[in-house]
Amino acid sequence: MLVVPLVFLALVLGVVEIDDPRALGRVGLKTLIWIVAVTAVAVGIGLLLVNVLQPGRGVPHEVGERLIAEAGQRGGEITSCRDAMSARDMLLEIVPINPVRAASEGNLLGRMFFALVFGVAAAVVRSPGTRTFVDTMQGVYDICLKLIEWVIRLAPFAVAALLFTLTARMGWDVLLQLARYVGVVLLALVLQCFVVLPLLVRYLGGMSPGTFFRGAKIAMVTAFSTSSSSATLPTTLEAAENRLGVPRRISRFVCTLGATANMNGTALYEGITVLFLAQFFGVDLNLAQQALVLLICVLGGVGAAGVPGGSLPVIAMILGMFGIPPEGIGLVLGIDRLLDMSRTTLNVAGDLAASVVVARGEDEQVPVASA
Ligand code: ASP
Repeated sequence: MLVVPLVFLALVLGVVEIDDPRALGRVGLKTLIWIVAVTAVAVGIGLLLVNVLQPGRGVPHEVGERLIAEAGQRGGEITSCRDAMSARDMLLEIVPINPVRAASEGNLLGRMFFALVFGVAAAVVRSPGTRTFVDTMQGVYDICLKLIEWVIRLAPFAVAALLFTLTARMGWDVLLQLARYVGVVLLALVLQCFVVLPLLVRYLGGMSPGTFFRGAKIAMVTAFSTSSSSATLPTTLEAAENRLGVPRRISRFVCTLGATANMNGTALYEGITVLFLAQFFGVDLNLAQQALVLLICVLGGVGAAGVPGGSLPVIAMILGMFGIPPEGIGLVLGIDRLLDMSRTTLNVAGDLAASVVVARGEDEQVPVASA
């Protein structure tokens, strides 16, 4: 309910507040460098662990075949989704023909593009009319934040109920059969979330990891329970601005963009799953091919939608590219929800860490520029 207005308002206001086009370019560039570099590290950790621990060789073949057969229909839907959306279509979607339709159909990239150019124009035209309009948008944004505050008060009860239902539905048997794969994914996520990110936050962002995780907790819990970076966005913004003290102009820009484009958990998961299925089907990928998997997964993190299971069509596409049967995705569908919850948590933690790091550089530059 709150995501559509918030993405638009947060991006437009973020761009208007950055004001200086050079600063906008700088913040944008830093965000881009963070996305590529940190995501590449995440995928690298994942690929290293799969190569060392070889989880794909641990699943008995008859069990694998059975899981794929059971997933039948859902697996088919995901692989056909892959055919429908080519890289060219994805690129063309960025500029929507109709921004209102883009918003109602969940085309987040298109919606963000529209908000970005709208914000740039609003920053450039300094008439009394635009100023009044921007003030009005600020008012609507504040109202949205109030609504979010109310939602957050309900969160603890909702999270408890959600986790209970999920555990009861999923059952333990599928989990046990794929235990090694699940273990590798969780280990890689934990390393990235609790070793790599804290180091970056400490040394590049100048914030102690304890302070960071205390501030980020509410957004991470929401991400874990909703499995959606987009649905968590309101809470992410709240955490960045009010709990981590990131300036609004930075948090709005970085976190809103990050909710669709900065997904280190998703990219890491894509890398592990592709290699895991390659091992299961006996497809050998040499070092150069694995480097290519890494590159594609970094892009895959940008391309996946911030919704539950958003990365599954991307994985199906990558599997096809390397000659691994895409229907193999069925093997992991049974336990996807648990892993989705976990990787989304890392995605959101990554957005917050990015906003802390990008903001620090900006703070240092403000006095220099005004001196
Ligand atoms: N659920 C993830 C997110 O929203 C996307 C995915 O990896 O499926 O961040």
